[in-house]
Amino acid sequence: MPTIKTQALTHIYSQGSPFESIALENINIEISQGEFVGLIGHTGSGKSTFVQHLNGLLLPTGGRVLLDGVDLNSSKKLRHEMRFKVGLVFQYPEYQLFEDTVYKDISFGPRNMKLSKAEIDERVREAAGFVGVPEEIFEKSPLELSGGQKRRVAIAGVIAMRPSVLVLDEPTAGLDPEGCESILKNICDYHEATGATIILVSHSMEDIARYASRLIVFVDGHAVMDGSPEEIFSQADRLRTIGLDVPVATDIASRLKQLNIDVPDCCYTIPQLKNAILSLKKEGTPC
Ligand code: ADP
Ligand code: MG
Repeated sequence: MPTIKTQALTHIYSQGSPFESIALENINIEISQGEFVGLIGHTGSGKSTFVQHLNGLLLPTGGRVLLDGVDLNSSKKLRHEMRFKVGLVFQYPEYQLFEDTVYKDISFGPRNMKLSKAEIDERVREAAGFVGVPEEIFEKSPLELSGGQKRRVAIAGVIAMRPSVLVLDEPTAGLDPEGCESILKNICDYHEATGATIILVSHSMEDIARYASRLIVFVDGHAVMDGSPEEIFSQADRLRTIGLDVPVATDIASRLKQLNIDVPDCCYTIPQLKNAILSLKKEGTPC
């Protein structure tokens, strides 16, 4: 089960050309098996560039990415293995559906792993189940599906490789609130059922607050904050300076505090805030 570590990871696009741009600079992060990590930051802060290093899709222009202590740069074979161990769901993955049926699309990864037909079939059905793709649509063309269904098929295609690390780059972008909620719930269920590491890139504080147990904040190619949701959201002023919002529940809690209503610091989801307010009402004490 891999531990991923980046040491002084730097990535410069088009290095040495007039178009040179520093996308990541000196990133030192260690992610252990089973963690649910949220990566947050503005567009252009380096999130997508960072996650593409985790399975060797991009190679560092400086520093290293280590998998269980082994440098990904050192071995082509290891990078090949990593493509299956670290499943990367790109932003708008539905644009990468290309087979003529849903079944073939979901089975693409396992087929590349040279598994038996029976094992491929088992994995396709399991992955489809995780993300709510009904078996009745297996023989449909992905082109016939709604946007939300296409997204699910694309995620199932990565899950079918049973990655021990699942990286999702803005998996809810462009979906309606119900679609967002249901896909995030599916990811959470996958995490609980398999113990896989989840790395979720999102620009939504609300999503991250609800699901991740660790948050890493990216600003201009630097990882500037790294901690539990409590630790990160307690620094509301710093987040606002960066131009990021705290979750709505945290904002309401801090306004209540300004009114001398004694809600605790731990409120960053609506259910937590609700419990805190209800317990105040009942007992006059915080949650
Ligand atoms: P995010 O995912 O947080 O929006 P990105 O990793 O996509 O950030 O981008 C980080 C920086 O790298 C940005 O300045 C972006 O313009 C630049 N960048 C991203 N991809 C490329 C690329 N293929 N070529 C050149 N510059 C790029
Ligand atoms: Mg991105």
